[in-house]
Amino acid sequence: MDKSILSQPYQKPAKNILADVCAMAASMDNVIDLSVGDPNFKTPQPIIDYAYKKTSEGMTHYTSAEGLPELKAALCDYYKQYDLHFDPDQVLVTVGAQHGLFIALEAILDPGDEVIIPQPSYSPYINQVKIAGGKPVTVDNKAADNFAIDADAIAQKITPKTKAIIVNTPNNPTGHLMSESEMKALADLAIKNDLLIFSDEIYADYIMPGKHFTPLAKYAPDNVVTNGGMSKCFAMTGWRIGYIIGPDWLINAANEVNDAVTYVAPTMSQEAAIYGLQHHDELSQPIVAAFQKRLTYLQDSLSKIDWIKTVPVDGSIYIFVDIRQSGLNSVDFADQLLKKAGILVVPGLAFGPAGEGFIRIAATQPMDQLQEAVKKISTLKW
Ligand code: PMP
Repeated sequence: MDKSILSQPYQKPAKNILADVCAMAASMDNVIDLSVGDPNFKTPQPIIDYAYKKTSEGMTHYTSAEGLPELKAALCDYYKQYDLHFDPDQVLVTVGAQHGLFIALEAILDPGDEVIIPQPSYSPYINQVKIAGGKPVTVDNKAADNFAIDADAIAQKITPKTKAIIVNTPNNPTGHLMSESEMKALADLAIKNDLLIFSDEIYADYIMPGKHFTPLAKYAPDNVVTNGGMSKCFAMTGWRIGYIIGPDWLINAANEVNDAVTYVAPTMSQEAAIYGLQHHDELSQPIVAAFQKRLTYLQDSLSKIDWIKTVPVDGSIYIFVDIRQSGLNSVDFADQLLKKAGILVVPGLAFGPAGEGFIRIAATQPMDQLQEAVKKISTLKW
């Protein structure tokens, strides 16, 4: 049997912009890897201890399909700080945020339905829409506006087939946090056109000093599906635990999809999430503070280099860096940065054509590594 049995999109390996650079990095010593979106902290020990205790006590079975009632209650409690009062029936616990978004898309999309994705955007969104049978329609955010969400540009892409918009705030890769006026304009557009907005808020806790995060659901509670998880706030990427919160009819349909996919999120990870949420501030704060310090350092020091401009970081764990003055495109720049300085970053093109001319630096290495990286970058000449 040969691979022609594979479905059409998988007959040829997907084009991976990062493949060559990553292969080279793997063959090199002492690479400073600033490409990975995985906080370099171990999950706080009390979370691990609690999950271990619960597992030892017998929490080794399936839970109810929507997730443990205590976890759904803890999530509802978490959102009260924003004066959002969700009903537990609006919550579905998922195997990471990404899985939550996918099953919700699968629950709404018929073949040919369109989903608008402002870019630069987290790369998997495009494929998620396609796999769920939909058509991704991209909108280019403008570098000159620090990649703000432009409701007018989105409005121009709405057709009778449009069902949803996917946004991500604070944003990976740009670090942009949607302002109140951006949120209001987008919410009004969704309400007027009867569209859903999937709001990926996985970096909600990573807000820079002086900035304030508001969940988009505040502005269009009936239209927004809030998508989040524990991966980033508690450095729990490997536990695979997240959620979607939205209209109960959508949550029920997504749950039906999930019944055929994974059925339920891992029980021990759900226990870990309960403990994390119940001790949210004390456990997430040291991790968030470390990233604030690193990003402030990167913003300040990189902006002093004459051929570099940075997009102001409002939140997230990334800084998006304008390298257009080097005269190279983002893929060639990443290649040269690795060869000349031993630093691995993600070319902006990986986040869509709107990211061309930029690179994403993840602040997921300790300060001394970041200082070393900036020192090396500052010596480069183009
Ligand atoms: N959304 C964004 C914007 C992300 O950056 C990531 C992880 N890199 C995810 C979703 C995936 O989160 P999870 O681990 O909860 O699936």
